[in-house]
Amino acid sequence: MADQTIKINLSESKKQKPQSDQLGFGKIFTDHMFMMDYIEGKGWHDPRIVPFQPLSLDPAAIIFHYGQTVFEGLKAYVTKAGEVHLFRPEKNMQRLNRSSDRLCMPQLDEEFALEALKQLIIIDKDWIPSAPGTSLYIRPFIIATEPYLGVTASKHYQFLIILSPVGSYYKEGIHPVKILVENEYVRAVTGGTGTAKTAGNYAASLKAQEVAEEKGYSQVLWLDGIEKKYIEEVGSMNVFFKINGEIVTPALNGSILEGVTRNSIIQLLKHWNLPVVERKISMDEIYQAYKNGQLEEAFGTGTAAIISPIGEFIWHGEELVINNGKTGELSKKLYDTLTGIQYGTEPDPFGWVVKVQ
Ligand SMILES: *Cc1c(COP(=O)(O)O)cnc(C)c1O
Repeated sequence: MADQTIKINLSESKKQKPQSDQLGFGKIFTDHMFMMDYIEGKGWHDPRIVPFQPLSLDPAAIIFHYGQTVFEGLKAYVTKAGEVHLFRPEKNMQRLNRSSDRLCMPQLDEEFALEALKQLIIIDKDWIPSAPGTSLYIRPFIIATEPYLGVTASKHYQFLIILSPVGSYYKEGIHPVKILVENEYVRAVTGGTGTAKTAGNYAASLKAQEVAEEKGYSQVLWLDGIEKKYIEEVGSMNVFFKINGEIVTPALNGSILEGVTRNSIIQLLKHWNLPVVERKISMDEIYQAYKNGQLEEAFGTGTAAIISPIGEFIWHGEELVINNGKTGELSKKLYDTLTGIQYGTEPDPFGWVVKVQ
């Protein structure tokens, strides 16, 4: 597989590139995409880079009916010197395979998938925006394409990579958000698909998100699906708390998505000799810490925002304002350090950056 050559069919016309202040998130796509097919018995074949275009799929394709699909999300950053950086992309390819395994989908050769990704980025390199905080969002995904209405794993798949130039998540600087603690809906349960990046989890989360937005909150805090007591994630991010000097994040329990950002933050905190623990955290405990004046910071973590400080929780009608609704010192330091490593302005002691060119 790894020595398969990727066929390249360049687009004849190039699209107009957007101004950096009109980027937003995930609305604009580059000139090319990568695709490759899978058939049971034959394996992955026909890797190719082609002009960005609609797909033609049978209406009976399994993806449409039973949601057999997985995805990833990572970014490419251009440095001041014009180098293109990826951040721990091998972690995303490993996770894509773990997600696929959960959904009974075929494994990819991770090195080959990364090589395909690099070739695609080089071809569409001019699309990587360079204004501060902007980047190229990368969306690899696999869909089940066999036309069959039986409930079973597909025998045919397609692996695709699309690229989208994205604006700075924090145009007006990093700022805290208000979070509704979700007591009715749940995102995932142990034994379910919460650890996989698969479409159904996100479809299932929309209702709670919509209700929270109507009430003026930007995201929900997800509690565990069984007792609705323990904290799992915030929106589609992992979550951290700083309580009386200690940094705490929910332990991976079989329903939490294991974020690359989460893992990087744990490593950074250890590197700084700060106390960090992964364990169960109940909402009661957070409430008590708040009441005792020990809830110092809270923040979400993920590729899109890197760090999203939480300024306030609302829980059973009560408002818990954290750090006066301002970005905490640790949140800011983590944000600056991680983005600094990604854009090549800070040292990279862990060798996380992978240069594309
Ligand atoms: C993608 C994702 C995250 C964050 O993962 P990163 O690898 O840090 O981007 C967290 N939770 C959910 C539910 C996710 O889908």
